[in-house]
Amino acid sequence: MFDPKIIRNDFPLLKRYIHGRPIVYLDSAATSLKPECVLQRMDSYYREYSANIHRGIYHLSEEATTRYEEARERVGNFIHANSSKEVIFVRNATEGINMIATSFGNEYIYEGDGITTLISEHHANFVPWQQLAKRKNARFYVLPVNKKGEFDQTLLSKYITQSTKVFAFAAISNVLGIIHDVSSIVHRVKKISPQCLVIVDAAQAIGHIPVDVHAWGADVVVFSGHKMFGPTGIGVVWARYALLERMSPYQYGGDMIREVRVDHISFADPPQKFEAGTPAIAEAIGLGAAVDYINALGLSSIRLHEQQIIAYAMEQMKNIDGIHLYGPETIESRGAVLAFSIDGVHPHDIAQILSDDNICIRAGHHCAMPLHTHLGISATARISCSVFTTEEDIDQCVASLNKAVSLLR
Ligand code: PMP
Repeated sequence: MFDPKIIRNDFPLLKRYIHGRPIVYLDSAATSLKPECVLQRMDSYYREYSANIHRGIYHLSEEATTRYEEARERVGNFIHANSSKEVIFVRNATEGINMIATSFGNEYIYEGDGITTLISEHHANFVPWQQLAKRKNARFYVLPVNKKGEFDQTLLSKYITQSTKVFAFAAISNVLGIIHDVSSIVHRVKKISPQCLVIVDAAQAIGHIPVDVHAWGADVVVFSGHKMFGPTGIGVVWARYALLERMSPYQYGGDMIREVRVDHISFADPPQKFEAGTPAIAEAIGLGAAVDYINALGLSSIRLHEQQIIAYAMEQMKNIDGIHLYGPETIESRGAVLAFSIDGVHPHDIAQILSDDNICIRAGHHCAMPLHTHLGISATARISCSVFTTEEDIDQCVASLNKAVSLLR
């Protein structure tokens, strides 16, 4: 049985007390807490076989290489990749998107080409495209969304034309929490512009809903390890192998070459071609453990719990005087995040008062300034839930929010 009260025991940080009180962690969308099994797997790399990979012809190095490549396999299986060779380890989702915008963008985007994204995108999936358009004199189009995060799908034919080369959007918005119907959007886009590269930012989706790269039909999917119970410093780019073969390397150096001479170079095949230098070995291994952890809990159980807890939060929070909840009203189309504002109270002050009660929430523009400007608000507060979030956590948060309202208004 899926019981968040038992699952809490997996997370050492939740045993910590600050000022004599336990922590209510409602900021998993910023970074998730790490379960013991992830910490242990990383610890054992450093204690038992911390050699460099792909290079040494001795036991420890071979062991490290095997564990690193096993982690790639685990990630590949988790997202239904055809082969683990389609999985590139990077630092985080941001680096993954920059890699595509640079490697693909520098070579295949020309003056006058179209690049389209949504106004609700995180800066990580907005600025690299905006800057690529600027570099290449391409056209940058931004599709508007409403307060719920929905966009009018008939607008796709206005914002995507036959000259559109890139369409980048997040499967789940980190502010509005909306879950987009990725496969149907990809299908529509490809119908209008078959050559258009579709990039899905799965940073808020991975570990919360099934990420099936084939069912989605996208060309590239990126995400960070640290939002799916893995460590910081590791992220993933999945891309079709043919695309990886076509793209030039993002960085140059050791480990990504086949042969180097003074006047000649040939590169290794993907994924090595995109992993120059010593990678984040312990972090990749930790990410593999995070995948095992999610699989052991079961994605469908995780999703069900997160839906129930977000529904509970919405129900309790809607009674707070002057509150506005953003994003979809139905839990079917909502992930584990809930952004809100309260009339007459600044989100930063709310977060500060909650912090005094050891409740961790996010306040600000959540790296989505264009969205906030578009909605006519300067900032929002946001709670985000995880497998260990309980109704008691939400009750404490609501009590603290009511306290903030009475103190600050
Ligand atoms: N996309 C989305 C939707 C996000 O929520 C985030 C992180 N908040 C990112 C991209 C960037 O992730 P990272 O900072 O790990 O690169």
